Amino acid sequence: MTFETTPIEDIPKIREDLIKGFASGKTKDLKYRRDQLIHLAYLLKENRDRFVEALASDLHRPVLESDFLDLNATLSEIKECFNNVNKWAKPESPPFALNWFFMKPHTRKEPKGVVLVIGPFNFPVWCLIGPCASAIAAGNTVVLKPSEMCPSVASLIAELVPKYLDPDVVRVVNGSIPETTKLLEYQWGHVCYTGSQRVAKIIGVAAAKTLSPVTLELGGKSPVVIDSTADLKTAARRILWGKCANAGQICVAPDYVLVLREVEEAFIAELTAVYAEYFPGDLAKSDGYSRIVSPVHAARIKKMVDETKGKIILGGEIDAEERYIAPTIVRDVPKDDSLMSEEIFGPVLPIISVGSLDEAIETINGGDHPLVLYVFTKDKKVKEKVFAGTQSGAAVANDVLIHVGASGLPFGGIGGSGSGATTGVWGFNTFSHFRASIDVPGWMDALVLKNRFPPYTDTKMRT
Ligand code: NAD
Repeated sequence: MTFETTPIEDIPKIREDLIKGFASGKTKDLKYRRDQLIHLAYLLKENRDRFVEALASDLHRPVLESDFLDLNATLSEIKECFNNVNKWAKPESPPFALNWFFMKPHTRKEPKGVVLVIGPFNFPVWCLIGPCASAIAAGNTVVLKPSEMCPSVASLIAELVPKYLDPDVVRVVNGSIPETTKLLEYQWGHVCYTGSQRVAKIIGVAAAKTLSPVTLELGGKSPVVIDSTADLKTAARRILWGKCANAGQICVAPDYVLVLREVEEAFIAELTAVYAEYFPGDLAKSDGYSRIVSPVHAARIKKMVDETKGKIILGGEIDAEERYIAPTIVRDVPKDDSLMSEEIFGPVLPIISVGSLDEAIETINGGDHPLVLYVFTKDKKVKEKVFAGTQSGAAVANDVLIHVGASGLPFGGIGGSGSGATTGVWGFNTFSHFRASIDVPGWMDALVLKNRFPPYTDTKMRT
């Protein structure tokens, strides 16, 4: 399938169509929203094999990872929106207050209008269609801008959206910087951007110029703290999986490990054993392991590995042209190492040994607030100490990645890892305007509200 960029001159008309679609009022109807959500689910379900194929073409993604981490996660998100939209959309009343009771104060959950969703390459389905489901549930019309780095998935989405969804309500703009820049010239009801910190600054500035509200779903360096009480075998199994799924290109992938010195050797021994179990044979020829999205990204990671002062103990084989990076474990990594300079976003795991929990906390607090902080420990006090001493988008004990799928929890960053939240009710709220409303009966002027009117006599001032 060839990747076709949307002509820039078509963008104003696409936006106008969606403005008209919103103005028609049809998206205010909850049944209509639910219908669109069903169509969105069928878009994925009926074309599951084509998505698997497209993800394999763009990222060399193994089928299991495509199903588990992208397609099924997106379907769950759509299902949650479908099942809950009536409840989420209900107006809410504030706590009872006698003075205000007769004015029927309530908060209306209203759509924001025409919204823009900009997706990244690493989860080209979940990070685009997930927010799309939230935006539809909240009653908006939507422009989807898939990542051009995954041309097969982007083309498939552009082909299927008009077949399954109302063109007055959801449209796709395919392209890269020029098309996104054009989109950002306009005011949007909301801009939901998922991607790198570098581009987020460009998006933030552009959105500020049009006063468009933004949600920024970013990445960063998510640390793992391994305490001396941790179940090291479980830690090794989970961390290595989380680091190597999608070849490490996951915003919530464990970026680096801070291990308490007394269990460092034992942890590395477990990691070595599980590495042999997970990756037997020639991984470079295997269909069970993803590739880095582009030679440029692979070369960026290679440079970090080439310049490390740490010791590569497992993996290290890199073919940047082929976008192949073997799962790589690096120990004795200093805190100012090349591998600590930016989000790795690849299957390379630096291990830093620390003398105490305080040192681990200090190291984490020396950088941006991470998207997620992981701690492996059996000691509740250690868990609380690490959580209380740090700030991050999410705080997870004894596993990696899977918190993203836990229904009812917000997904979002803080500081450098982003702002705002998506998924479930949090996604619905992101795309909703909370509109305060009261209705004041005329008779109230005769009672409680009478003193507000001029002339401001002394008698009125005294009561
Ligand atoms: P990216 O910032 O390069 O691209 C994201 C989107 O921005 C793409 O659609 C791209 O076309 C657009 N874009 C790129 N340059 C632009 C510019 N100059 N002006 C306007 N738009 C531009 O990000 P990426 O490399 O695709 O994604 C990887 C990053 O995303 C990682 O940092 C990862 O941690 C983060 N991420 C975060 C989440 C999350 O939910 N928090 C999820 C997935 C990925």
